[in-house]
Amino acid sequence: MPTGDADTYLVEAVQRGEPAAWREVIDRYQGRLVSFARRMLAERSDAEDIVQETFLGLLRSLPNYDPNRSLETYLFAILRNKLHDHLRRRPKGQRQSLDQLEPEDTPQAWIDRDTPSGHVASQERLTAQRAALVSGLRQWVEQCTLAGRFQDLIVIEMLVVLGLRNKEVAADLGLTETAVAGIKFRVLEQWRALLQSAPSATEWGEAELARDSTVGRIWREEGVSCLKRSTLGRYLLGVLDEDWNAYIEFHAEQADCDRCHANLADLRSEEQRDAAAHEQLRERCFASSVGFLSQRPG
Ligand SMILES: [Zn+2]
Repeated sequence: MPTGDADTYLVEAVQRGEPAAWREVIDRYQGRLVSFARRMLAERSDAEDIVQETFLGLLRSLPNYDPNRSLETYLFAILRNKLHDHLRRRPKGQRQSLDQLEPEDTPQAWIDRDTPSGHVASQERLTAQRAALVSGLRQWVEQCTLAGRFQDLIVIEMLVVLGLRNKEVAADLGLTETAVAGIKFRVLEQWRALLQSAPSATEWGEAELARDSTVGRIWREEGVSCLKRSTLGRYLLGVLDEDWNAYIEFHAEQADCDRCHANLADLRSEEQRDAAAHEQLRERCFASSVGFLSQRPG
């Protein structure tokens, strides 16, 4: 499952209105969220303000939170929304970083700008289809990493994240175009097998292996191939093998995953982080949002 057991436990405790659990959620995620926001905002104080709003947004939208969704994905989606709104309010000349946020990738339907409105039945059906698709794709990524099939993973990311063509993928990886076509064919077979029982509307044709496809959109929105924080930690310690290192470098640098970037930056600064500043931000986020926590029914 994409959601860690600890997160599931924490979210349930927060839904019951337990302040200690809420403080723990903030403590756990504030660092990577600030690192992410700082890629768009020069001022640390601006980044911290946005992160504070993000935690508030999480509490407000908690009644709509789907426990099958990873808490990190959910928080980053709220943060992207907040950043997008913030940057859009700036004068035109200062908006260059807005493009990086890809507002079309922001999963508006399930964030719904924090409005705890009820979902209609068709929306729920779509959400279930999407969850099945995400879970199947994540399973495939895990199979790739366990079996060391990192090249397949890189090829797919080049197609659905970077939007490259067969020819470009082949040139980049030093493969023939026939080899790339073979990988695509094989991967589609694997996806069909993994997702045959899922209520998915996807046809699983070649068209799904493109940036503007349903798979492409969901892949980027959900961070399907994003790395676990523990894996990134091991990468920084230098204890992973070469294939793993090469994949992580591809994913974070070449594919420019801002979420894994943010996690790496946060992990790198974790040791030299000013403990007092960390605590100060946590308490600020906590104080500004805890009032909403106690209003949770049941
Ligand atoms: Zn990532």
